[in-house]
Amino acid sequence: MTDAHTTMKLLIATRNAHKLTEIRQIFALPGLEIVSAFDFPDVPDVVEDGETLEANAIKKAVTLALATGLWSMADDTGLEVDALDGAPGVYSARYAGENVDYAANNRKLLAELDGVTDRTAQFRCVMALSEPNGRAQYVEGICSGRIAHKCSGTNGFGYDPLFVPDGFDRTFAELSSEEKNRISHRGRALDEARRAWPDFLSINHEP
Ligand code: IMP
Repeated sequence: MTDAHTTMKLLIATRNAHKLTEIRQIFALPGLEIVSAFDFPDVPDVVEDGETLEANAIKKAVTLALATGLWSMADDTGLEVDALDGAPGVYSARYAGENVDYAANNRKLLAELDGVTDRTAQFRCVMALSEPNGRAQYVEGICSGRIAHKCSGTNGFGYDPLFVPDGFDRTFAELSSEEKNRISHRGRALDEARRAWPDFLSINHEP
């Protein structure tokens, strides 16, 4: 049984520094010490070969939990563009090819949407939590918006310079991290995690 003064470790199963920073900002709960895959350099990268965000998120969380014996949480996110039938979706990281940079993916997205007037899209983030024994569950968070006609802004990462969330006339990359985290797919998934997993989270920080 953990008491009020015990810090519990939660491993964030990612080596994406941007995601990790956002999760640390959003999920700064008392009594919760966040570590990441960077702290376990001997654990190999998880191959994200699932056909869904859910499959990849669970695979990452379970692999890291079993390798380290820690509760582990993993985020798998896709940008789903309506005019492209939900693409790039689960392939968002490698839309323009294997090992490409964010700028190449953004160029490809703009090229695919050249002349397309329906720019509506959503980010969908699936957040999986695995117990140390590999038993896992997940929640999701969605942020709806539209794809701009050109990149703007320098904050954030990935498709942020092209994504204008509903209710804004600026891209994610033009918002502060506080503004993005309040409304983002990742912020919403983590809000949902707090609601869905109160037992896990409360043993760590309730007086
Ligand atoms: P994955 O969850 O690591 O597979 O991420 C897939 C790809 O989606 C990343 O390479 C980024 O390009 C993009 N992505 C994930 N989260 C965000 C975000 O919050 N903003 C913009 N792009 C994102």
